[in-house]
Amino acid sequence: MTDHHLNYVGGVWTDGLPPPIEVEDPATGQVFATIARAGPADIDQAVAAARACHLSGALTAMRPVERGRMVRRIGDELAARLDQVAAVLSRETGKPKVEARIEVEGAVRYFEYYGNQAETLEGRSIPLGDGYYDFTVLEPYGVSAQIIPWNYPVEMTARSLSAALTAGNACVVKTPELTPLSSLFIAEAVQAAGLPAGAVSILCGYGHEAGAALSSHPDVDQIVFTGSVETGTAIMTAAAKTVIPTVMELGGKSAAIAYPDADLAALDESVRWGIYFNAGQVCSAMSRLIVHRSIHDEVVDRARTLAQSLRVGAPDEDADMGPMISEKQRERAEGLCRQAQQEGASLVTGGHRLNHPGWFLEPTVFANVAPEMTIAQTEVFGPVLSVFSFEDEAEAIRIANATDYGLVAGVFTRDLDRAMAAARHLKAGQIFVNEWYAGGVETPFGGYGKSGFGREKGREALWNYLQTKNIAIRTGR
Ligand code: NAD
Repeated sequence: MTDHHLNYVGGVWTDGLPPPIEVEDPATGQVFATIARAGPADIDQAVAAARACHLSGALTAMRPVERGRMVRRIGDELAARLDQVAAVLSRETGKPKVEARIEVEGAVRYFEYYGNQAETLEGRSIPLGDGYYDFTVLEPYGVSAQIIPWNYPVEMTARSLSAALTAGNACVVKTPELTPLSSLFIAEAVQAAGLPAGAVSILCGYGHEAGAALSSHPDVDQIVFTGSVETGTAIMTAAAKTVIPTVMELGGKSAAIAYPDADLAALDESVRWGIYFNAGQVCSAMSRLIVHRSIHDEVVDRARTLAQSLRVGAPDEDADMGPMISEKQRERAEGLCRQAQQEGASLVTGGHRLNHPGWFLEPTVFANVAPEMTIAQTEVFGPVLSVFSFEDEAEAIRIANATDYGLVAGVFTRDLDRAMAAARHLKAGQIFVNEWYAGGVETPFGGYGKSGFGREKGREALWNYLQTKNIAIRTGR
């Protein structure tokens, strides 16, 4: 027997279409639960509930301080469930328990950060000369649709939801079919925090079914999507037909540049988390490392030692790195590793599945990677590091910028002038100097190029969820 879970639609827990969606433990490959499968009718119901909530003024007429407190209460309720959420999250994603806790704590932090800012959303007054008063007001779009990926389901749901609610939008969240269970605790937290019915619906369904119904829905006012370029393109196409704005947080193939004066211990730590956190299934993973020729061999040796030192296993095996999310994702990553070797990259370590049930891939390092190789251009979304070597600084920047993506980039040097020069020339929305993932909920995050547009995190994210209305008054005197 497996547990069956329901969707949260308009303040009510509801079942979906037969058959339900099966949820697998990626560390064993076994199904351990099912969840209601939302179809177009469930999406209609959630959007209608959100529209009714918006029109009722339940969120918009509220004093901002109260709306902020409401958003913070969701975070408090989620924090009160931290152990439970982390356990379910680690089961459905396979991520180590410590990583699951970090994710839930990160989710809680979003509700705190954005809740605190509800009172700061102000317009401006614009001088028009005698006889006029003019000012702007910031208004929510109304119904915000949010489509979430499987790699950080709790944190990504919290990221969009907290900012959208703070701005006064009613939200419909479509959770990922591979990891839908942990986000249900956010629905529980919303319910416990006493939000008006329809302010938040959280539903799971397949992308081609519930996701497509939501992104093409005529009564949605705005879409925030986090996921692959391919799906983002389908969603933008649907949004073009209903003429609504989108925010696209897509993939990446992000590079770090290590200069001869890099602190190699700091670099090791950044490689550890940059490419092996969440088994490399991170949009902003350090999937490329561009190293000066003078330190190349030493950096490759250190990366090999690091990769080989990681214990790979299930969450209850106290592992450093878990499995990949699915058989399909592991097949794809292994295939890219084979292709890298065929194209001439040197396999330093890893590259193969583990002899263990579940979707494990060894922590992998490639050296002698050239910019035109498939492994240099394609997002693996797995624990695979590609190392390049460079001679002069311009070449390093050229290699770093030579992909379609531009999510994040990193620079490792003790020379701040060199770091700043690189930061200016790197094509990426976020630059890390001497620490991969430096930053937090407070720092704006989003892509250049095919990594997408719009910013999540930081104050910038609030602008995704607000539109400006100008009010011009002619006084007559
Ligand atoms: P995906 O694009 O396959 O799926 C993401 C979501 O879109 C899922 O909820 C899915 O059900 C839904 N979906 C699929 N087809 C759809 C359709 N036709 N219409 C509407 N919705 C649809 O991505 P994924 O495999 O879940 O996630 C991995 C990708 O996400 C990677 O490329 C990664 O880089 C990216 N990602 C980006 C960020 C970021 O902030 N930039 C964060 C996490 C993941």
